[in-house]
This record gives sequence, C-alpha cells and structure tokens, in this order.
Amino acid sequence: MVDWDALYATLCNKPQMYQQWLVKQRSGFCGTQSMVARWNLARDGKYPNCGEAETAAYLKICPSEGRVGLLMEMTEDLKNGYTTTMPTQN
Ligand SMILES: [Zn+2]
Repeated sequence: MVDWDALYATLCNKPQMYQQWLVKQRSGFCGTQSMVARWNLARDGKYPNCGEAETAAYLKICPSEGRVGLLMEMTEDLKNGYTTTMPTQN
C-alpha cells in the first residue's frame, strides 16, 4: 500500500534527479549486480566484495570492509563539500 498523498507532499519540492534516484533505489530498478544479471547472463548478480546478492537494499547493510570504507569515504566527501559550499552565517 502506498500513501500517494504523503509521497507527493514529500517529493513535490525535491529536485527531479533526487526523485528519480529515490524511485530507483526503492523499487530496486537501479544498476546493481542483481538487476544487471537479469539481462546479462554472464553476470552472477553477486556483490564482488562479499559474494552476497547485490540488491539496492543490500548495499545499505553490507558489512564488508570495502563497502563500509566506501561509505565512510563518501560521507566524508559529502561533509567536506557541504561545509565548503555552505555560506557563512554572520
Ligand atoms: Zn556484503
């Protein structure tokens, strides 16, 4: 069941690319190995770092060292970019 009114209220003022990203992540129709393996039979659908099925949901919880390191690195980059682009408050 989807609360379409609440979904619209949440997303209507967000950038289109954010809306698109969220839909892709939530529906699972994004560039994960599991999705690529549907049309490319040479792929096994597994995450190379740990061998588990790579789905959008799994990428958020994979405890492998490589994945956690990437998350930390991207978080730091986002933090640094955010703080360097934010206007100073006087
Ligand atoms: Zn994993």
